[in-house]
Formats: sequence, structure tokens, C-alpha cells
Amino acid sequence: YTPDLIRNFSIIAHIDHGKSTLADRLLELTGTIKRKEIGKNEQVLDKLKVERERGITVKAQTASMVHPFNGKSHLLNLIDTPGHVDFAWEVSRSLAACQGALLLVDASQGVQAQSISVFHIAKERGLTIIPVLNKIDLPAAQPELIAAQMQSTFGIDPSEILSISAKTGQGVEAILQAVVDRIPAPQSRRDEPVKAFLFDSLYDRYRGVISLVNIQDGVLRKGDRIVSCHTRKKYEISEIGVMYPEEVATDILCPGQVGYIACNMKESSEAHIGDTLHRVGEPVLPMPGFKPSKAMVYAGIFPVDSSDFPKLEESIKRVRIIFISTSWDGDEDVFNSQNSVTTPVTYQRESSSALGQGTRLGFLGTLHMDVFRQRLEDEYDANVIITAPTVPYKLIYRGGKEKLISNPTEFPDASDPSSKVVEIQEPIVKASIIVPEEYFGDMMELCYTRRAEQLNHRYLDTGSDASSSRLILSCVVPLSEIVTDFFDQLKSRSSGFASFDYEDAGYQKSDLAKMVFLLNGKPVDALALIVHRSAQDTVGRAWVKKLHKVIPRQLFEVPIQAAIGKKVIARETLSANRADVTAGLYGGHYERKMKHLENQKEGKKRLKRIGTVDLPQEAFFDILKR
Ligand code: GDP
Ligand code: MG
Repeated sequence: YTPDLIRNFSIIAHIDHGKSTLADRLLELTGTIKRKEIGKNEQVLDKLKVERERGITVKAQTASMVHPFNGKSHLLNLIDTPGHVDFAWEVSRSLAACQGALLLVDASQGVQAQSISVFHIAKERGLTIIPVLNKIDLPAAQPELIAAQMQSTFGIDPSEILSISAKTGQGVEAILQAVVDRIPAPQSRRDEPVKAFLFDSLYDRYRGVISLVNIQDGVLRKGDRIVSCHTRKKYEISEIGVMYPEEVATDILCPGQVGYIACNMKESSEAHIGDTLHRVGEPVLPMPGFKPSKAMVYAGIFPVDSSDFPKLEESIKRVRIIFISTSWDGDEDVFNSQNSVTTPVTYQRESSSALGQGTRLGFLGTLHMDVFRQRLEDEYDANVIITAPTVPYKLIYRGGKEKLISNPTEFPDASDPSSKVVEIQEPIVKASIIVPEEYFGDMMELCYTRRAEQLNHRYLDTGSDASSSRLILSCVVPLSEIVTDFFDQLKSRSSGFASFDYEDAGYQKSDLAKMVFLLNGKPVDALALIVHRSAQDTVGRAWVKKLHKVIPRQLFEVPIQAAIGKKVIARETLSANRADVTAGLYGGHYERKMKHLENQKEGKKRLKRIGTVDLPQEAFFDILKR
């Protein structure tokens, strides 16, 4: 395929607007996959178990297809993108390999928060956008109204909008035509030195790292010796091919094509997203990489059974690469790293006196964190304890030095007079919420309870149809307030109608303190939290209650306290468990008694001693599960 016969495109949309379904229809129409039974709803490109279960796309997937147009066979490369706010950077990465995008909007729901954010990402990258109204088969579809909405929000000419049903296949054929017609062919040159853009990678148990590349210029062949512009490491290509939709070896990738290469990369750190690869001895200027995406939430991950740590670490390494495939540099500092092209998830070893050896990971958001945990459990059978999420706080020292911390244990003690910290800042985000007018009051209230500022709102629909007026509400809110249950609250208070997106808005001074929890006077490091002073009493009381419920009774009374500095904020008392469980087992039941003691010994191994209190590791699991 010469570049003029190639089209590289992506489907972008708010979650659930039908990207994966449309991708399946396109693959079927072009004969790339067999037509499935009607009603069977298993998206081909949603490969991960967690994606099927949650019905969301987490990892962008790539597939090529062949389509005849004007008597000529065209090669169409589709890149499916995730829709959730946490994965915005995956979207931006997929788009880097495309010249165009299908912007899908659900004809019954209309423009949502992520429709707007993905539109802007595509626009910034200068992509040709093909607007598509999906789900026109639904009785609740309002194609005219939503088309007007797209016009007023995106400045799209309604005559350019294609109306389809990805479910029934109605109108989908026209999409293939529009892709060939409207999206420009890649500007790639055959006779130039090879320039391959690495935009994604997968991990294969046998072959190691598989990189997805877009050939900017030149022809790449099996056996070619290549160099990474980023690491300067050299490799030999052992396998090369296209995703059709599974890997199909072709031995060659031509300019403009999207495909995969295997080249004996053993370590995930070697496949840098945004890297440029070239042939040994034929240097090229690297293409601009991606803006490094920042971890928004950190949490400690520990094995339930401490002896499992090596296995857990190995599993994390694997999931991490399949999932986001980025550098794996033990203790890198994500905020200062100049050399890392993208560092969406950071990794650091961490040890806790309560939980033993573990790791501290940075995530793009809490959904990202949840999905990561689920994948660890699904695919690697790992039982893990995850500490409460923490956002990165900024400490300002006397003299102006700054430090970012990702662990509450690094936070200065409120009562420490020797502390040189003069100011504490927290990350804030600019949030936008799109919601039907009748939920406006509830949304405002939710925002106020989350310390939101600079609240603004405007109508999204300029039309006169008052029955479906929706508002876009924007505000500045601390990130820590939205990483917990904000999204759930938003959904439940709006009967599921609100959609939400946010972007980084820097740091702001804040009145924060470290809250520690004490068992019988001894602090439990793994439970420390950072709270805003205005919420300290509520948070302290709630956690102390929870601990009281979950911690098993001991042979003596145990005070459970929440404290800030030296000041106790909340307290509960765990009464003593006086009943001796072996007391009832008299002489004749000696064997049973022995057995019981034996069991206890087994249990002891998994107990953690906090001062004088014995805690089973599982208790932490119960305390910290969300
Ligand atoms: P994604 O999150 O954008 O990938 O959305 P999916 O493709 O997973 O679709 C979300 C839901 O919408 C699924 O239950 C689909 O079956 C359904 N869906 C997708 N397209 C259509 C359509 O054209 N009509 C109807 N009625 N349902 C659709
Ligand atoms: Mg999907």
C-alpha cells in the first residue's frame, strides 16, 4: 500500500457512546472478523477481562482493515480509544498516530463532558474530524436536537454529520466512505531513512515487549537493525506485522502503515511511548513525543501475605507494562524526570512497619487504580492491600525550596516545632460538569461540600427546546476532593445524568494536616491520612468507627484514636475479649484443644504486632477496601 491508499483514524467519544460497537461493525463490514450472532455483545477490541466486565475500554487497541474504494483497495488503520477521564492520555497517544477521528455522539444522550475533551485533543493535533450521531435506532434518539448541539458546541456543520446505528449497522458503510474521502492520507515518504513512531506497547509472555509503531517514513523490514532515539539501544527486528485484528506477521511495514514489531526488548523500560526508532547508521530527528502525564493519585500496595512480595512485585511489573507500558526505573521522580517521555504510573518500593514490604504506585485517577488492582487480581492471582489514595502535595520550605510528596508518612507533623515547612500546597483541578437543568442545585451543593471555588455555569443548548436544557458547570476544586467518591456522588445525585471531566490547574495553598491513627497509643503508619482542617472531625470519627468495627478484640482493652499532632480528634474503645476460647475444651477434648492452638499458630504468622496489639493482615484489607 502506498501512502495515498492508507488512512489512519481513531474513534473518539464519551464513554458508552458506542466506540467499541462501531469498531466491531467496521471490522465486520470489511471482512476483518466474522459477523457475530446478533445480540451477542462482546466487543472484539475490548480484550481485557476487566474491560468486558465493566464494559469500558481501558487500553487503546489497534486494528487494520482493507476496504475497496474507486476500484482500489485501501488500508484503513483503526485505533480504538478509551473514553474515561482517567485515560485521556491514552486518547492523546492514539491520536498521535492518526490523521483523522470519528467523533461519536449518542443521539439520545447528546454531547457529554468527554465528548468535549476528546474533541479538543483531536482539534489540537490538527486531525480531520468526522462527526457521527450514533444510536439513531433508539426511540429516545433526538438526532436534530443533538445535531444542533454539536453545531453550537463544536462549530460543526450539520450537513457533515453522519447518522448511524452501530448496533444494527445502519449507515455504517457510509463511515468507511467518509474515512477514505475526508481524512487525508499520511504524508509519508518511501525513500527517506526509516522513522517509526512508537505509540503503544504490549507485553507477551514469550516474546517480551511488542511495540506498536506508525511508520512515518521509509520501509521497515524483518531483520532490520534499529536504534531507539530515546535510549540509544540497538535491536534487531525478529518479527514485524499488522494487527488484523490479531497480530499477523508481514515481514515488512511500508510508509504510513501502522503495525507491530518484536525486537527482543526484555524490559518494559525500553519501550518508551513517544519514542522514535530508526535504522542503525541512518540517524533521523526524533518526532516530538508526548507531554508526560502526571500521576494524580498515589497508593501503597502490599501483599496480604508478606512472603508474597517478590511475586507481587513481578506481577505489578507485568500488569504495569501491559496496561500502560512505560518506564520502569525503580525510584524515578516523575515530576522532575526530563528523560522520560511518558510516566503515567510511577513505582517505588515502600516498607511499612504495619504491612511489611510493599510498593507505592502513582495512578492517573481512582478508576485507573481500581482497574489496575482488578487486573492484578484477575491475571496474576494476587491478593493485595491498597492504602487510602493520596494526591501529590507540595511542601514549601523556609528559603523557598519545594518538595512534592506522595506518601502521608513524609508529611510534617503538625506539632513539630523543628519543621522547616512554611507552607503546604495541594493540587487543584478545573472541573466541568454537564447536567440537565433540574439537577443544577444538587450539583452546586455537591461542589460546595467539596471546597469548590469560582463556580460558573452556562447553558449548553442554545436551542429553544426548554424540555431538555442542559448546563455546563465549571469550578476549581482540590484534586483530593474528587479522587474519593466524587464521581459516584455525581452520578447518584443526578440519577446518572451528569458527566464530568477535569484538567490540571496547578497548586494552591491549603490548610492541611496529617492524621494518624493509634492503637493502644501506637501509631499505625499504613493508615496515616492527610485531611483538610475543615473536615478533620468528620474524617477522624468515621475512620475510628470503621477501625472499631473491623479490628478483632484483644485480651485487653484497646483505645483506638485519631490524632493530629498531639491532639486527639476522635476515640473509640475496643473492649477486651475475656472469654478464653479454649476454656470450654476440657480434658477429654485434648485433641481438639491442640488443634485449636495449632490453628492459632498458623494464624500468628500473618499477625502484625502494632505495639502490644496483634492485627491480622486481613484486617487491613477490610479497613482499606473501598
Ligand atoms: P464505548 O464505551 O464507547 O466503547 O461504547 P460501547 O461500544 O461499549 O457501547 C456502549 C453500549 O451502547 C453497549 O451496551 C452497546 O450495545 C450500546 N450501543 C452501541 N451502539 C449502539 C446503537 O447504535 N444503538 C443502540 N441501541 N445501542 C448501542
Ligand atoms: Mg469501548
